[in-house]
Amino acid sequence: MDKIFDDSKVFYKFDPEIPPIGRVLPGERTRIRTRDCFSNQLVDENQQLSSIDFSQVNPATGPLYIEGTEKGDALVVHILKIITASSGLVVSLPGEGFLGEDVKTSKNRRCLVRDNFVEIAGVKLPYRPMIGVIGVASSDKHPTGVPGRSGGNLDTKYITEGATLYLPVEYSGALFGVGDLHAAMADGEVCVSGCEVRGEVELEFSVLKGLAPAWPVVEYGNTNYIIVSAGTLEESLKEAARTTVKALSKAFSIDWNDAYMLSSLVADFQISQLVDPKKTVRVGIPSSVIRAEDLLKAMR
Ligand code: CA
Ligand code: CA
Repeated sequence: MDKIFDDSKVFYKFDPEIPPIGRVLPGERTRIRTRDCFSNQLVDENQQLSSIDFSQVNPATGPLYIEGTEKGDALVVHILKIITASSGLVVSLPGEGFLGEDVKTSKNRRCLVRDNFVEIAGVKLPYRPMIGVIGVASSDKHPTGVPGRSGGNLDTKYITEGATLYLPVEYSGALFGVGDLHAAMADGEVCVSGCEVRGEVELEFSVLKGLAPAWPVVEYGNTNYIIVSAGTLEESLKEAARTTVKALSKAFSIDWNDAYMLSSLVADFQISQLVDPKKTVRVGIPSSVIRAEDLLKAMR
């Protein structure tokens, strides 16, 4: 491992004024320890969620200064490995989550990570570690709990091992941070939390000069996903559709109508999360139709 960072230094806003905790070169294998989304304050099923300090929710470890990145570049984050703790917590509480109005009482549940599965309330489900919060400094200085154009609380299950994430750089060094690991989280994150765990991620960074995308893009499997967040699901889907049509029009030098029709044939509209301050959707376009780098160029 070329660089190792513990979780003693975290931040809560993607604010360019926060001094970096270290510097990383493109190509250096980097291991970063992360706190869970409660900043490790919630340790017990029976502990009241109201007992924790909410100003410390959704910490991101960092910021890291990535050498050679400038405004207008795409920061490329290769997610090599995610190692989670063997135990985490899921929470539900009145007023929170997609069915907040139906929640009568608060409840926490421990989720246990076994070899290749997660166990909750006696039910076994697949172990699918993923990253909830990941992003770079932004001029709007948005909280780490909010998803946006420069990343943040993206809560997208394909931001996982083997994926490559492309983020738009606004400031020299990008000022990258990561946190909020989940041992499992399904599309929607309907109850407001995943299996919230502390852990470590192993990343490698690279840079694509001048290719900052309008929204984060994640390449996973044979698909490139544009990740869009706005105030409502409807607004997110509209913005995602407009972004997709515009990008395909530019990429293939076809007019708006042709790109609209092409989108209808190849672009899968999916929900990442329904429960954060902004709602996140993703549009999946097969890599066989457009390569990630060409998509980034078309999103300029
Ligand atoms: Ca989250
Ligand atoms: Ca979370």
